[in-house]
Amino acid sequence: MPAGQANVNLADIHLSLFAQHSTNKVKRALRGDNIEAPVSRAQKRKFANVMRAPRACFEGISVKATSGQPVTFYAGNIGKILEYTASHIPTFRNKIYSLEKEETHKIILTMDESTSGNVLQVGSTLKMALWYFYISNFNEMHRPSAWLPLAAIPSKDLQFVAGGMSAVAAALLRFIAQQSIEEGIWIQQVCRKFRIWSLVADYDALRMVYNSKGAAASKPCMQCKNICGNWMSLPETDPYFHSIDCADFRNFDMISNAELHHAFDTLKPNLATWRKKQRENTEKGLGYNLDPHGLLHCPIARNMLPVRQVLYDTCHNYFANGIGSQEIILFQEALTKHTAVTREAIQKSVCEVNWKCSLDKLNSQAARKKLFQAAYFTGTVHKGSATHCWYLLPLLCFYGEQFLCPALQMAFDSFIVLQNVTMRQCTDNFSKDPMNT
Ligand SMILES: [Zn+2]
Repeated sequence: MPAGQANVNLADIHLSLFAQHSTNKVKRALRGDNIEAPVSRAQKRKFANVMRAPRACFEGISVKATSGQPVTFYAGNIGKILEYTASHIPTFRNKIYSLEKEETHKIILTMDESTSGNVLQVGSTLKMALWYFYISNFNEMHRPSAWLPLAAIPSKDLQFVAGGMSAVAAALLRFIAQQSIEEGIWIQQVCRKFRIWSLVADYDALRMVYNSKGAAASKPCMQCKNICGNWMSLPETDPYFHSIDCADFRNFDMISNAELHHAFDTLKPNLATWRKKQRENTEKGLGYNLDPHGLLHCPIARNMLPVRQVLYDTCHNYFANGIGSQEIILFQEALTKHTAVTREAIQKSVCEVNWKCSLDKLNSQAARKKLFQAAYFTGTVHKGSATHCWYLLPLLCFYGEQFLCPALQMAFDSFIVLQNVTMRQCTDNFSKDPMNT
């Protein structure tokens, strides 16, 4: 969710200086649409002028390629970005002023891949991996515009980088390390101290950054030492090990950063002499790919952002292509099976009643109808956005309760538990400071 929107927000600041028709043209270009008329030289000059100041916040960073010329990506200087933003947005400046002078403030990073276009028509050549950062004390983690752009690399370039995203992440962290943000940076005449504290991302992004193997490994969890893939028989013979479907997290034995770093350091010298099969087996057991260019082989980067500091983001784990969007499909199927209430019937019903929604754009008959459109209910996950999922959960709970019968009870109970988890995420005020726990 933060990706894309925060970018547009910063772009909007620059674009406000253009005439409306050229602004639309630039926005269309950013979206990857075809622009009928070529951009005039005067327009290009104007655009270059406006972009000069924010562009100065970013630098090209070169990383080793698998062969040939190094690959360059762009990364931001945190001090310059904060200075630029504070000098343009008074409320942001006041937020910086309100930060304690002596305290070291926590910076949270996020990374996601984003593609121009919509779900049905994506321009895959325009796919980008985007990094953003956020100052934890600002208490507005949920606001996309609170995330400031930090780095970007086109996915088509990423495939030529030795070590892929993990090497890019390591280079980005080394670049930030050079900026001495912990000693204090000057923003609008005041000095404030910062440090990199966490990375919040979906599992795909975390897997790319840390080179973890996920479901392909015997040990699929990045953080647990004793959790095995559910195809393994080890948990049956040794009580220390548990299958990934184990629900009692008191059984989980988490790996410490020191243990993980030690494993990487010990195994590194073997990489040159190991046969392919030996390396594959070790990686499978470790749960990580041992690529020598990866982040976990770089002492500076891994100490700045160790594996135990990462957070799985709720937006992607629960709502967008997450557990919530899977359960919506499963519960809808159970509802139809046990009560004969079909998706079509619910779709008709939400149009007839005057449901009120806290979100304006979902507050119409047409929008509610769209939530239940057939195209969203194909496959194993609901195809709508995180927001759609968020509103569908309680809505389906309502229909479940109305048509509850003994055969539906178990599916309904489990659906209610999921709904309670999402409510808990709100009441616990995770936006405040999830890192203090
Ligand atoms: Zn785990």
